[in-house]
Amino acid sequence: MTRRDHPRDTKITTEDFSKQDTELARLAIAELTKKGVSTECKSCGKNNWNIFAMKIVATSATETFFPAATTMNVPVLSLTCLECGWISMHNLKILGVTK
Ligand SMILES: [Zn+2]
Repeated sequence: MTRRDHPRDTKITTEDFSKQDTELARLAIAELTKKGVSTECKSCGKNNWNIFAMKIVATSATETFFPAATTMNVPVLSLTCLECGWISMHNLKILGVTK
């Protein structure tokens, strides 16, 4: 398994960000393991993943018509299969590892 760092907040160092991101990913993987989630890729059946925690900034489809609405941040654990490129995402709030 490999991971990439994506520092976005200039108030924290790359090292700080890496520690936070690694801890979030570790907690999320522990929860997925506890829940019995398979480690095999649903597309190719192999087990070779790129893992990192991130936030997805989403806008409601209705904002196309009402642009004043606020955006949503969805914290996720992103898993990308390094064999076939399959991407899976798990909501970190549902896993209970972030607010
Ligand atoms: Zn795959």
